[in-house]
Amino acid sequence: MCYQTDVLIVGSGVAGLYCALKLPSDLNVTVITKAGLEECDSWLAQGGICVLRSEQDYDAYYEDTLRAGHYENDRSSVDIMIRSSQQLIRDLVSYGVEFERDEKGELLYTREGAHSAPRILFHEDITGKEITSTLLEAVRKLPNVTLYEHTTMVDIITAGDHCQGIVALVGPESELAGFSDGPVTDDGRLVLAMEAREVVWACGGIGGLFEHSTNFPHLTGDALGIAIRHGIRLRDPDYVQIHPTTLYTGRHERSFLISESVRGEGGILLNNKGERFVDELLPRDVVSKAIFAEMEKTGEKHVWLSMEKIPKETILHHFHNIYQTCLDEGYDVTKEPIPVVPAQHYFMGGVDVNSDSRTSMRQLYAVGETSCNGVHGANRLASNSLLESLVFAQRAAERIGQEFAGKTVDHEVTRQMDLTGYTDTKKLFADYKADILKEVSRIKV
Ligand SMILES: Cc1cc2nc3c(=O)[nH]c(=O)nc-3n(C[C@H](O)[C@H](O)[C@H](O)COP(=O)(O)OP(=O)(O)OC[C@H]3O[C@@H](n4cnc5c(N)ncnc54)[C@H](O)[C@@H]3O)c2cc1C
Repeated sequence: MCYQTDVLIVGSGVAGLYCALKLPSDLNVTVITKAGLEECDSWLAQGGICVLRSEQDYDAYYEDTLRAGHYENDRSSVDIMIRSSQQLIRDLVSYGVEFERDEKGELLYTREGAHSAPRILFHEDITGKEITSTLLEAVRKLPNVTLYEHTTMVDIITAGDHCQGIVALVGPESELAGFSDGPVTDDGRLVLAMEAREVVWACGGIGGLFEHSTNFPHLTGDALGIAIRHGIRLRDPDYVQIHPTTLYTGRHERSFLISESVRGEGGILLNNKGERFVDELLPRDVVSKAIFAEMEKTGEKHVWLSMEKIPKETILHHFHNIYQTCLDEGYDVTKEPIPVVPAQHYFMGGVDVNSDSRTSMRQLYAVGETSCNGVHGANRLASNSLLESLVFAQRAAERIGQEFAGKTVDHEVTRQMDLTGYTDTKKLFADYKADILKEVSRIKV
């Protein structure tokens, strides 16, 4: 038996949830996620979300985005994102998202690296959680949307030149478990064909493919692996943002970010002989390369970051969270250096989409970090990614709403699929990983 829905959204981060919210309410929408609903990078975003503050800031915001992206950005995408930002923020507020305000109730704006003016809205240092939890609450209220956790897309179903659904592995924890008597994988998951007249990939980034990443480890770029297999166009797959300093623990788990402002305040990088080897205030990519080179030279798995030049007061107040987390790991940063290693942080490239988030395959859209509309160019400007994910998810939903009538599914194609080919999950994911990393080959893993 095959599952059927009108629109199938793969991923429940900000991009997937906002797309679900903006689809016409007469469509039957299914959202699946590989893990639990709170396990996605959208929940981790700390700094905030950019917005165009006023017409006077347009040129500066546009230029900052282009400069950060090494002028390789798609200018039309940048314009759409900036022009859509005010309406988008009003919409988030209408759902109940709370941003910091002054005593008069006016929005407060902060500033991050490479921004020439304060234009970032924030909620403490948990902006992503505030936005994503609010959107999730709104989606849960929609009678036309069903959410399934622990349900993993491993392929798409194609008929001729269009997409008409996905193949999913349904974990025993999922409400879809037992939906059909189809084949079962080596690790006990049901292989299920899920038909849809439109499919939206909202699968996030690729951090899980890297030894060190600030992303959730289950974000392994599955959509990209599937795209490569089906000849769906990618764009800039080698544009991966690496953050130079995350805490090295030796465990394969999400890396804890050691903010760039630690080096700004006087933190220095040392090799295993206690010698400095790079100007710590150089751009992110230069510092990361120097660290990788040093690690290769010494054969060590990390370098060291010393905060000895930073006053204790500053560490305890300004960097309280870093201080506490390092202490929990056994390092007192007021007294000793900490091991650090560069980690993958963000994916600027992705599945190539147009300004309505359509991929090169019919009836298949991609939104959020999985997609690439060129907005970030070669490097993302801080706090542009939540905004970009939301703006272009809404555009996908609007386009699907306009074009939905007339979209068909050939049930016979699905019926004839051999689902037993998906039971060897280790091989399946290893093959996808190899394919994706080949595309990302300029980056050191
Ligand atoms: C530590 C950290 C801090 C950040 N801070 C900021 C910030 O301050 N401002 C900012 O703008 N951006 C920030 N970002 C980036 C931003 O959070 C992400 O780019 C954005 O949230 C991506 O949203 P998304 O919906 O595309 O992906 P995600 O939120 O990562 O969601 C991806 C979804 O896809 C699902 N999925 C993946 N593969 C499959 C599959 N095969 N089958 C089914 N489901 C699948 C996942 O389970 C998940 O539900 C930060 C990122 C990190 C890691």
